[in-house]
Formats: sequence, structure tokens, C-alpha cells
Amino acid sequence: MADERDVRHAERMARKKAVVDAAIGRAQDERGLLLVLTGNGKGKSSSAFGMVARALGHGLKAGVAQFIKSRTDTGEEAFFSRQPNVEWHVLGDGFTWDTQDRRQDIVTAKRGWNVAERMLQDPAFNLVVLDELTYLLSYGYLDTGLVLDRLAQRPPMQHVVVTGRAALPALIELADTVSVIEDNKHAFRAGVKAQKGIDL
Ligand code: ATP
Ligand code: MG
Repeated sequence: MADERDVRHAERMARKKAVVDAAIGRAQDERGLLLVLTGNGKGKSSSAFGMVARALGHGLKAGVAQFIKSRTDTGEEAFFSRQPNVEWHVLGDGFTWDTQDRRQDIVTAKRGWNVAERMLQDPAFNLVVLDELTYLLSYGYLDTGLVLDRLAQRPPMQHVVVTGRAALPALIELADTVSVIEDNKHAFRAGVKAQKGIDL
């Protein structure tokens, strides 16, 4: 027999369901979204790759541009680059503290941006991930106005996910969905090296 607590719970849930259903009913738009995943916590790129998996599951086509990073031994690249509906580009030279060469970084950034730009002009890509793009803007390697223009002018149904720390306010302003992932704890600070399946 339901006690008073169960009855209250059921009433509360019924009210909540009405509110949620009404909100879902109001959300009728369908269009390409710009998502920004930023902040210092772990989970930005891996979330973006999760959306690539979702898109592929629906038979959609995805393009991924990985800026900054030069490593091609990640699990995500090994897995996704073999998928027929994925175009995967590793466009980095490494972190700027590795290359230590600003001019070279700018050349690399611009070369990488050309690849991204092509995908942003091609409606065949349902989802485009611009992984670690934020750094190219915050370091001034790319013209922010031009990048934002290209994002704004992409095909109307194309989704784009931008990841990286310290997203500029103008990018956040343009985006539809923004998540700032907080760094609460990271195993690296306890001396754990990058683990396959978790970090790479
Ligand atoms: P992930 O690719 O795991 O989703 P991310 O994209 O949020 O991470 P990046 O700044 O791109 O974070 O860093 C990528 C690598 O650095 C991953 O191996 C990740 O585990 C590690 N990392 C991310 N955040 C932190 C942190 N706050 N401290 C230490 N290492 C981190
Ligand atoms: Mg990342």
C-alpha cells in the first residue's frame, strides 16, 4: 500500500512531467546547431566524438578537424577514421609549448583552417567537429571575425561542435549550446599517466 510519501512523490512527478512535456512540445525548430564545449575539465573532445558516434548511428556524415594535436595514435582516430561516413583530419603540429615557434604555428593553423572551411561549405557534412579550435582564436593565429563568419554562413542544417579551453565571448555568443566543463579533479595530478580508452 502506498504511504503518504509515495503519493506525494507521484504527485510531484506528475507536475514535473506536465512541465517537461509542455517544454518539449514548444521546442519545434529543427536547424543546424553550433555547440561549444569549453572549460578546464576533462570531457570536451570525448563528448564531441560521442556526437560523431550518434550521427553515424543515424547514417549521417561527419567531418572532424583536430587542430593543435599532432598525435595520430588516439583510439578515436583509429576507430572513426575507418568508418565510411567519416572524414578525419589531424591538422596540428603539437602544443605551442612543444613547437615553440609562433610563425610555424600560424602557418599550420591557416593550413588546418582551409580544411575546416571546406567542410563548413559542404552541406554533405551533417556534423563537423572542430576539435581544439578555441586556441587558434585565443592565440590570434586565425582571424576571429573570419572564423565566426564562416561558422555563421555554414549550411543551415549542418551541426558544428567546437571544443577547447577559454572559448572567446564572441564564439560563445554565436553558439546555440554551450557547456563549460569544470575541472574538479584529474587523475593526472595524482601521477597517473594518460590511459588508453580514457585519455587517448
Ligand atoms: P578529452 O579528450 O578526454 O575529452 P578534453 O578535450 O576535455 O579531454 P583537452 O584539454 O583537450 O581536454 O585535453 C586532452 C587530454 O588532456 C586528455 O588526455 C585529458 O584526459 C587530459 N586533460 C583534460 N583536462 C585535464 C586537466 N584538467 N588536467 C589534466 N589533464 C587533463
Ligand atoms: Mg580536447
